[in-house]
Amino acid sequence: MSAPWGYETHNVVKAGPLKSSYRLNQFHFHWGPSNDFGSEHTVDGKGYASELHLVHWNSEKYSSFAEASKNLDGCAVLTVFLKVGNAHPGLQKVADALSLIKTKGKQAPFTNFDPATLLPASKDYWAYIGSLTHPPLLECVTWVIFRDPISASPDQLNQFRSLLSSADGEKECPILTNHRPTQPLKGRQVRASFS
Ligand SMILES: [Zn+2]
Repeated sequence: MSAPWGYETHNVVKAGPLKSSYRLNQFHFHWGPSNDFGSEHTVDGKGYASELHLVHWNSEKYSSFAEASKNLDGCAVLTVFLKVGNAHPGLQKVADALSLIKTKGKQAPFTNFDPATLLPASKDYWAYIGSLTHPPLLECVTWVIFRDPISASPDQLNQFRSLLSSADGEKECPILTNHRPTQPLKGRQVRASFS
């Protein structure tokens, strides 16, 4: 039995395939132009409307995210699929904050948020070793992909698509998609925590 999932103090997680403590660095979402596709991972060829990446670094072995990302066991990304359905209360806090940063370069305070509220109830997962999906695509990530999606309402998903890559006063340019196409497995082993 592995340790139960969840964040201890200071957004640190040590559970499932993670043998060290991993500290949350940032989280972000990927989405697409419609609710049919927007995830970076697929399950049996099927994508989801959106995908959440909670990016962590091994704070037990390394002293910074930069140092950790040079090592195979340096990072862990907890991945949660979003499917269209009911509004998600935890996600609504994020969606509300998006309206404060609609244009490029905007910042807003975002405090008292528990990222564990974005994890699905079941912690069944797939895991594999791979790279960051943002350049320079360093091979340093234990990917943990939860089997069960969380739900997001069409309104919540549209709030992501209404973010603009343009600055205040420029011609409005909405970010309709920001996911990287699915990559070939290239012999990577994917393990499941369930049978
Ligand atoms: Zn990502």
